[in-house]
Amino acid sequence: MGDTQRTNSRPPRDLRALPKAHLHLHLAGSLRPATLRELAERHGLPDPRLPSDPEIQGWARFQELYDAARAVLRTAEDLRRVVVEAAAADAEDGCGWLEIQVDPTAYAPLLGGTRAVLEAVLAGAAEAPVPTGVIVSSSWARPAAHAERLAALAAEYAGAGVVGFGLSNDERLGRPSDFARAFRIAAEAGLLGTPHSGFFTGPAHVRECVEVLGAARVGHGTSAASDPATLALLAERRVALEVCPTSYPPFGVHELADVPVATLLDAGVPVALAADDPLLFGVGLLGQYEICRTALGLSDQRLAAVAGDGIRSSSAPEPLRVAMLSTVDAWLAGRGPDLDAG
Ligand SMILES: [Zn+2]
Repeated sequence: MGDTQRTNSRPPRDLRALPKAHLHLHLAGSLRPATLRELAERHGLPDPRLPSDPEIQGWARFQELYDAARAVLRTAEDLRRVVVEAAAADAEDGCGWLEIQVDPTAYAPLLGGTRAVLEAVLAGAAEAPVPTGVIVSSSWARPAAHAERLAALAAEYAGAGVVGFGLSNDERLGRPSDFARAFRIAAEAGLLGTPHSGFFTGPAHVRECVEVLGAARVGHGTSAASDPATLALLAERRVALEVCPTSYPPFGVHELADVPVATLLDAGVPVALAADDPLLFGVGLLGQYEICRTALGLSDQRLAAVAGDGIRSSSAPEPLRVAMLSTVDAWLAGRGPDLDAG
């Protein structure tokens, strides 16, 4: 809004052809509904309830659905398959780099430990149809010592497919300062710190994640939009916010039309659009860009800027980043392959 929109004679640019990095996707939340049902049946579990009746209300209901999705992932083969399928869905959406996030804790008892879980996920990443890195996540709800163990595990696999360390779940359940050591372990191994914050909590929590945990990116973080000082900090340090538009309305965090992408961009804060949990929210990576165009009125210039922010704040190898960024420029200049075809 406020940008020069494309001229009215020109067809809208194809958002699928805009190269994207997908930086905030949870493993179980990426399950295809058909795969969820198939695995439930194979493992003799009751047919999972799906959020196709869009009734997700509040955190408890969300957690119930998420736990049901996690419960069908019982073997290394299940985990490998989910990663490959998530990347395949993203490939169709024009994704050129995926970072998939897993908390190995829930799967560890069945697979014989967190290491076995991580290796199964890395096996999926290695054969995914889109280059894929893995983010190991602990939970704000678990003790700092647990996060430190997972950070040490993640650090062992830095350079072997693990690219980041995060903290997921409800950020009100833990204090950032308690997790400083875990993030230090990850940073010393060269991993990006990507905690969830600023979803239920205010800008002070986002700021603490940057200042105390050294976050390179923040999962959500949209409460920062209400505080100029936090916006300035994020902009100055080039800390990207992983904004997932469809994750907010079910929790009353933002209405779709009020997701503050424009405010963040105006303040110079990098924005990386992501899907979070497409199984639960029903919208994939491409759909998040479409929502920014239709519900938020972002111009193609801004959509290209967001795609560029995602690529620049990713852990993709430098040559891939350069290639993707030049394709973003070509898309905006109207020289994308799909546009030439017409
Ligand atoms: Zn998330």
